[in-house]
Amino acid sequence: DSVFAHVVQAPEDPILGVTVAYNKDPSPNKLNLGVGAYRTEEGKPLVLNVVRRAEQQLVNDRSRVKEYLPIIGLAEFNKLSAKLIFGAESPAILENRVTTVQCLSGTGSLRVGAEFLARHYHERTIYIPVPTWGNHPKVFTLGGLSVKTYRYYDPATRGLNFQGLLEDLGSAPSGAIVLLHACAHNPTGVDPTLEQWEQIRQLMRSKGLLPFFDSAYQGFASGRLDADAQSIRMFVADGGECLVAQSYAKNMGLYGERVGAFSIVCKSADVARRVESQLKLVIRPMYSNPPIHGASIVATILRDRDMYNEWTVELKAMADRIISMRHELFDALRARGTPGDWSHIIKQIGMFTFTGLNSEQVAFMTKEYHIYMTSDGRISMAGLSSRTVPHLADAIHAAVT
Ligand code: PMP
Repeated sequence: DSVFAHVVQAPEDPILGVTVAYNKDPSPNKLNLGVGAYRTEEGKPLVLNVVRRAEQQLVNDRSRVKEYLPIIGLAEFNKLSAKLIFGAESPAILENRVTTVQCLSGTGSLRVGAEFLARHYHERTIYIPVPTWGNHPKVFTLGGLSVKTYRYYDPATRGLNFQGLLEDLGSAPSGAIVLLHACAHNPTGVDPTLEQWEQIRQLMRSKGLLPFFDSAYQGFASGRLDADAQSIRMFVADGGECLVAQSYAKNMGLYGERVGAFSIVCKSADVARRVESQLKLVIRPMYSNPPIHGASIVATILRDRDMYNEWTVELKAMADRIISMRHELFDALRARGTPGDWSHIIKQIGMFTFTGLNSEQVAFMTKEYHIYMTSDGRISMAGLSSRTVPHLADAIHAAVT
């Protein structure tokens, strides 16, 4: 008998499992709106032209070798990533108060951040919004933190429960860590306004709460890189400390390359140096050092003005296509006279629409219409096209009537 005979079958991941089910469906009309990856109007994955150009350059450069990177990754990538998220003129960067380390995309950045905090920060509790990306509680718990929640989304208004958020952060113990989605909150698509961010900042600073930003969608929300980093920059501008996990999965389409960065903004260059030395001790026994290819692509694009500009144009095109899908779906439901107020479809921000459909309605749409999405009613707008909007609108209409 196997020494593993007692191992029980684990459930599929609630998000990635949607694709597993989709792949098994033989229907020609099937539609995968589960996974958060960009698709073209033809429903195909997209490699940005600027990424192809950068890769070509890298391949042609015979001086490049396959040696290990340092534990914290490619130095130029780290520097350019910090500039991208904090702004080129950020005083924190100019004063060398930021330490940035290359990590395995957004997830790896969050995990390294969690383990660093568990070892070196006095308060182990992290507050995460309800709802949030399903992997957050697992990453933070396994990273050694204790997870609590704060109110975020109000199903009644399909908007922000701002009062609840302020109350919950207001009663959090001083020093607690707070996970904030920098923009394009996943799964709700609901972000605070700049005025609300300012109130959140004041409350958090007055209580000494430590902000940990998850930035998985910079540029993908509005199509503008600086605008999507505003929340973070407000917290850096006040001179206080904060942590940021950055992902290049969505905004450069580098999903499988696993390229991201983790930064800690400190109060002084001296602290930042010591913090960096400890981040190395977190990373070394975990995966030793990060992969070269994705970080080299990012550095090639960010260092070159012409490539950077081409990137911003392609990024805006992706964001704009998502926004236009919102309008097409909204119009299609209105044209069908589907009962209910669907204006949240055009108000929500980023890749996802939190439709408000319940798990029975989702199950109905999967069974009768072969439409796949997470059971919380979240649909990826990036998986839609003008061709498939009518099918989705028909399904939603049937599900709610
Ligand atoms: N945070 C949020 C909110 C996300 O939506 C995602 C991707 N779905 C991530 C982090 C991490 O993604 P990755 O590890 O692929 O960068």
